[in-house]
Amino acid sequence: MATPRTPKGRARQVARRLESEYPDSPKDLCELDHRNAFELLTATVLSAQTTDQRVNAVTPALFARYPAPADLAAANPVDVEDIVRSTGFYQNKTKSIIGMAEAIVDRFDGDVPTRLEDLVTIPGVGRKTANVIRSVAFELPGLAVDTHVNRVSRRLGLTEETDPVKIERDLNSLLPAKDRGPFSLRVILHGRRVCLARKPLCDRCVLEDICPSSTLPARRKGPTTRTTASRGGRRSMRRQAADLDDAAIR
Ligand code: SF4
Repeated sequence: MATPRTPKGRARQVARRLESEYPDSPKDLCELDHRNAFELLTATVLSAQTTDQRVNAVTPALFARYPAPADLAAANPVDVEDIVRSTGFYQNKTKSIIGMAEAIVDRFDGDVPTRLEDLVTIPGVGRKTANVIRSVAFELPGLAVDTHVNRVSRRLGLTEETDPVKIERDLNSLLPAKDRGPFSLRVILHGRRVCLARKPLCDRCVLEDICPSSTLPARRKGPTTRTTASRGGRRSMRRQAADLDDAAIR
């Protein structure tokens, strides 16, 4: 298969390869246990600054006691704090999830809204969380940019931005709407398992031959190394990546 020459071609090939590597559906790609949008929203708010495993350890008790937004909206905060304590920042998180439940009851008739514009008005819900809810719970387009998507998409030369909103805009322009949510979820998994922040495992990566930031020797020799890019050379990372692609085709 020819090496893609453009960011759009590379993005689509990344999407295809990661789908082969992580073939689960969006619902199963999400590592937070949940049965509906309200549970996913609650779990996502609790997942700040902790692991999904830690959240999954507390949510069964939380969801059993407060199965619907109206139940959580009426909860005694002390009781909720006791349940979510081990996730850290438990007082703020308790305030957030009770406030979130109140907003859903008061303004959305007890149903989690589907529109991004509505989701981000709920306390504790930012754009990243809203996009996770849209893609996982509702199977609507929603490309969440977390720390992994931020890092991996820049390493792959799909964006030069560091601001999550601008990264989301760049990636959205490269992918069909239906692929955006699954792409984000798979890049998150890839960032957690292979393209690690400190030491990417390029020798185990299915994207290695099309990645301009590969640390393997064959890639380090050329003009497209990360060092060159990070020194602020005149050519942009995208231009360098295109050169790499051209070299691979030659
Ligand atoms: S080749 Fe290396 S830097 Fe590129 S995506 Fe894979 S693990 Fe990350």
